[in-house]
Amino acid sequence: MRSSLLALGGLVALASGPAMAAELRPDQIAFRDIYRELVETDTSAPTGSCTVAAGRMLDRLRKAGFGPDRAEVFVPEGHDKDGGLIARIEGSDPRAAPMLLVDHIDVVAARREDWPRDPFRLTEEKGYFIGRGVIDDKALSAIWVDSLIRMQAAGFRPRRTIKVALTCGEESSDAVNGVDWLLRNRRDVVQAGFALNEGGYGISDKDSRPIALYLAVGEKYAQSFTIEARNSGGHSSRPRPDNAIYDLADAL
Ligand SMILES: [Zn+2]
Repeated sequence: MRSSLLALGGLVALASGPAMAAELRPDQIAFRDIYRELVETDTSAPTGSCTVAAGRMLDRLRKAGFGPDRAEVFVPEGHDKDGGLIARIEGSDPRAAPMLLVDHIDVVAARREDWPRDPFRLTEEKGYFIGRGVIDDKALSAIWVDSLIRMQAAGFRPRRTIKVALTCGEESSDAVNGVDWLLRNRRDVVQAGFALNEGGYGISDKDSRPIALYLAVGEKYAQSFTIEARNSGGHSSRPRPDNAIYDLADAL
């Protein structure tokens, strides 16, 4: 995680609960395929492309019936690899403020030689998913895309418009921050009454029953200060009452 968005940051493995491939329902297999494709698309700033990942998700939405008016890839001018995806399902009540489902699809850089496995291959081992971005944050991106496809297939018409934005540049300042870009250039597509983003998570028991769902409603942000204290000084073996160190300690 970087930036002001809620985030977990840099983790490489996700405890997803035991899931045997043989027991998966068709809809779970469909979800797994979206998740796998996202994880296996390198979206790190030095070697990957968010635009490619966004394009792959757009292909899935097109196949599900999302036309150009409801789903598109956006690419900041001059930054071919820093694209993202925007999509929507129109609500039935124009007075209800839209809901924005937002997530970053970029990941922290991962070098093959630093990893025991290929970081851009989704591996499942003993109930854990392993790969770059499995938890931060391609699971959520896959959930948003999968949710749109499920809603479309069910003919679901929400009361409020549901907007989805998958963006780049959250993990690295080497890529254009897609949220920032959308707010500056396509504000209408992300304008919403509230947004759901990464940062929360849930816990289930050994039988996969939900126990708790954590919500993060805010996040601290780093802020650097420089404080300078001056006086005539002296030797630390003979501390004086007007010592600059005391002044600095008082200020801190
Ligand atoms: Zn994140």
